[in-house]
Formats: sequence, C-alpha cells, structure tokens
Amino acid sequence: MLEIFDREKNKETLVFPGTRLGVIEEFYAGPGTYIDDGYIYAAIPGKVVIDKLNYEVSIMQSKNKKLVQPVVGSICLGTVVSVSKQMINIAIYYVNNVEVYPTYSCLLHVSQASRAYLETADEAVALGDVVRVKIIDAKTIPIQCTMADSHLGVVISYCSRCGNRLEKIGRNKLRCNECGNIENRKTAIDYGHSALQFKL
Ligand SMILES: [Zn+2]
Repeated sequence: MLEIFDREKNKETLVFPGTRLGVIEEFYAGPGTYIDDGYIYAAIPGKVVIDKLNYEVSIMQSKNKKLVQPVVGSICLGTVVSVSKQMINIAIYYVNNVEVYPTYSCLLHVSQASRAYLETADEAVALGDVVRVKIIDAKTIPIQCTMADSHLGVVISYCSRCGNRLEKIGRNKLRCNECGNIENRKTAIDYGHSALQFKL
C-alpha cells in the first residue's frame, strides 16, 4: 500500500522535503515540488497548496519566517543531511515550531544519538530522516544537539531501498510496507503519529 500525503486530513500540517504528495496522473508538479518515478514530492518544507482549477500541487513556505536564534533547550526539527561514523549533520528548519530562515546547521555527536551505546551514527539515523532534537550548545559553530531522550529522535523516515515511508514496528525498528525492508533508527516515542508541530 502506497502512503500518500492525506490532502483532506492534513490540510494545515507542515511537510518536509521528501513527503510524497501525489501522482503525476493527478496533478502537475508546482513550485516547491519535484517528480520522481511518477510521484510528486515536496522539495522544500512548508504547507501543501492544491490548486483544484489547474490541477497543481505546490508547497508554500511561510511568509513570516523569522530569524529565530536557537538557544540551549530549544526543540528543533530538521532533516539529516550527512552521516559519518561519529557525527550527524542536520539542517534545522523549525526552532520551537517556528519556521526559520536561513536554516541552521546543527551537529549531533554519536554519543548524543541515543541513551544506549552506539558504535556508529548510522545505527541511529539515515540520510533524509526528519529528526526532532534538542539544542545542548548554541555557542559553538555549528550548534550542537542531542537526540538522547524518548521524545527526541527520528519522526519520519524513508526506506533506503525504495523510498517509501517506514512504519514503526518496534521500539527502534521500522518496516517498509512496500518492499518488506526492515531498518533500525533511534525513533522518537511518537514516530509516525506526530504532527510535525511539537507541544512545547
Ligand atoms: Zn522499501
């Protein structure tokens, strides 16, 4: 079963790059979207806009993006842009639920990826995952964060084989309903259920 962004239910929710919005038979891919293998995806974070007259789906970014300074304790949402043995690099899009511009680059050391000991950072995340993190040092460049708490961690993740969104089947286990692939992540407690906005 293919999971596609629910246009009726999720009207006002924010989407992240990589969210599947629809199929090309149904819509034209408007601004802020891209096409891959017959599907339309969000290329940027923002709100989904459906132009029913022109059959176009696009992503609108918030007009009142603010220059919000993350401080120690800020809860941030972002996507994983690189993973090395020790370090995870995250592009932060939201600070305490406020869309920020420009995005912040944030580092997560493997020791802060989970309460459990991890050998390498790729045991916790994969490229393109949407993660919820907490800032632990805002004076360094880049700033640094942690994921070692139950409400922090991966909130959306995609199959490394086929790109379908992964479903949570165990504490840190995810399954792809499309190809059966099973992957490990350090998930947030509300993985897959969460609106992207976080209750502060
Ligand atoms: Zn898959």
